[in-house]
Amino acid sequence: MIALLAMVASTPDVAAAKRRKKFKKPASFVFNPSDYLTIESVADQYGLSRSVSAGGSFKLAGAAGTIFGRSGKQLIYVNNTLMNLIRPVVSHQGRIYLSKIDTAVVVDPLLRPSAVRALGRVTTVVVDAGHGGHDSGARSRFGMEKHFTLDTAQRLAKHLRSAGYKVIMTRTADTFVPLATRAEMGARQKNAIFVSLHYNKGRVVSNGVETYALTPKDVTTRESSALLSEAYRGNKTDGANVLLAAKVHSRMATATGATDRGVKFQRFHVLRQNAIPSVLVEGGFLSHNNEGRSIAEAKYRETLARAIALGIKDYSEVMVHGTRFRQVSNENRRNKLFGMTLNSP
Ligand SMILES: [Zn+2]
Repeated sequence: MIALLAMVASTPDVAAAKRRKKFKKPASFVFNPSDYLTIESVADQYGLSRSVSAGGSFKLAGAAGTIFGRSGKQLIYVNNTLMNLIRPVVSHQGRIYLSKIDTAVVVDPLLRPSAVRALGRVTTVVVDAGHGGHDSGARSRFGMEKHFTLDTAQRLAKHLRSAGYKVIMTRTADTFVPLATRAEMGARQKNAIFVSLHYNKGRVVSNGVETYALTPKDVTTRESSALLSEAYRGNKTDGANVLLAAKVHSRMATATGATDRGVKFQRFHVLRQNAIPSVLVEGGFLSHNNEGRSIAEAKYRETLARAIALGIKDYSEVMVHGTRFRQVSNENRRNKLFGMTLNSP
């Protein structure tokens, strides 16, 4: 069955149709200038210089950091970390625009970490191995998600403990733990963060790593139209959530070499009910032939665990020193995505 699907998927017509479908713009999107800022004004806001290429690509760079983007894309690189935007970058009458909401919730925490609510150095990490017990998570011929998340959690805990962090595990065996219990575990801890570990499942061709932060307050997304005006407990740390997600994701995407799906927003239970800064990591697709095989190997999970530990350390340093991000993402991938060959400052 899998072999048959792979054959069908590889015929040119089907592949082309899939590409068209994938890059279709959201039907509901309408450009309203009052919701947008020109990239010149974004540059001025952060003291960045700017360069714009003929293809609609732009680069803003300065002491605060860098932004790379392209009109029509709903993705940008901020300090070389791929971030999914709430609204696409727009080209209108010869100018390029970034939405105000994206400037506030995606760009600002990364370029102005000093404005993120000061939480100080991270001392405690709640490590959440996704699923467990009767909830096996994603299943594939390579194994069950619940086993791989627990192994990754134990590896991550080991790295964090040897770096001096206190670690709280939401589970240490193949047991079922309710989401509400998981989200509560760090609530009374000082200087703590929460990291949930998962592996993905999707279409046979889907692959890559992605990191989720809680959808910021008042942001409309497809998945949450009923929840628009409601702010959750987790929204108290919106800026820190995005900063933590970017740090962890940047290390993970670079270390694994997997397809970079970027930092994304969702209102997952363990994120929205968390009292401390929290992220949810999807460390690859179990349903993908090559990636599933990698995830089943200890080497990949060790690479992932080590990268996440480094990302947490990067975040902690920013919270203490307020320095800008170390730039670690893969430039070739960025250039391929945006058709740019711009060099970092
Ligand atoms: Zn999962």
